[in-house]
Amino acid sequence: MSNWFITGIGGMDGSHLCDWLLDKGENILGLIRRTSTDNTQRIKHVLDHSNLTLIEGDITDSGCINNIFQDNKIDFCVNLGAQSHVQTSFDVPAFTFDVNTKGVLYLLETIRLFSPRTRFLTASSSEQWGNNYSVDKNGEKYQDLNTPWAPRSPYGVSKLASYELVRVYRESYNLFACCSVCHNHDGPRRGSLFVSRKITLWLASYQQWKKEQNDFTLVFDDEDYIFCRNGNRFAKLRLGNIYSKRDFGFSIDYIRAMYLMLKNNKPKDYVVSTDVAHSVKEFLGEAFNYVLNDDYKQYIIIDKAFFRPSEVDYLRGKSNELRKDLGWAPTIDFKSLVRLMCDSDIEALNEKETPNRQEKIPEKV
Ligand code: GDP
Repeated sequence: MSNWFITGIGGMDGSHLCDWLLDKGENILGLIRRTSTDNTQRIKHVLDHSNLTLIEGDITDSGCINNIFQDNKIDFCVNLGAQSHVQTSFDVPAFTFDVNTKGVLYLLETIRLFSPRTRFLTASSSEQWGNNYSVDKNGEKYQDLNTPWAPRSPYGVSKLASYELVRVYRESYNLFACCSVCHNHDGPRRGSLFVSRKITLWLASYQQWKKEQNDFTLVFDDEDYIFCRNGNRFAKLRLGNIYSKRDFGFSIDYIRAMYLMLKNNKPKDYVVSTDVAHSVKEFLGEAFNYVLNDDYKQYIIIDKAFFRPSEVDYLRGKSNELRKDLGWAPTIDFKSLVRLMCDSDIEALNEKETPNRQEKIPEKV
């Protein structure tokens, strides 16, 4: 049994990694931030597990990180703690740097000083490429580790800085330190501010509202609301730029890639992606068609408030190295991912549970 230290254990990726490692009989120390509201929703089903210990702290506090490494034998450290929202990073850029860059630096310094045999992985981001891309022989655009970085948000810059820090520490101090450069990854536990989950949560609530109406005749002539003939109304879904394209993957596939990277015989950075790009508009189309069997257009409003000061238009990874070296492949395609997320949110509302309960994990994963 090995000892794992996971930062951001209460987040989407952290909670999936926690499930994955507990299934393998590993021992986990999870770092959780002190908050006045409950931030253990995604791991509540394993809180009593004897192999899981939660510790309150923060990666922005170097003393806290030092103490953890001095008090515990840590074989693997996976940094999934982050200010992970791109748009938010324009509002709180300094905080984004504190968490995403200085937090990684503190972890690396602590490992160097107190635990140099610890294997370290941090999650990097496709946002580091910004609008840069390479072109393959078929004229298709993609990003891999040879594509020059050009981040377009404080988030992207903070992630790129920590990516470079990991390289410097690996090369300078011979640490086992690596980065998984992850394209967008989603799933039923995705935060509600991300566009994918915002769409599936809206659809689940709308569908439930519609069921509760005694008059099914809907009127779409209002700008902000969908009206029912009985006078009840439901606010339309407000979105920003729906033409950007993303490589939408499944979170559990991505934590499996991280696990394989940490078990590799050498520390190496990899791109993690499905290698297929879809627009937000396609996500909408797929989700609305699946849940309502209808076109999304009359249900949404394009709202300037959700546009970013600078947008990243096209992200599509090329994960051939990861597939070739470590035998990794995604298990879920775009359509299945959209449906899985819709089903989960609808089921959660039907069961009157909180939407972040443990979803059914497909057997193949
Ligand atoms: P990101 O790729 O990490 O920034 O993930 P997001 O889910 O936050 O955004 C994905 C894309 O959806 C970006 O191009 C956003 O500009 C676009 N988008 C359009 N409307 C929205 C919205 O209402 N919320 C968010 N978060 N993104 C939106």
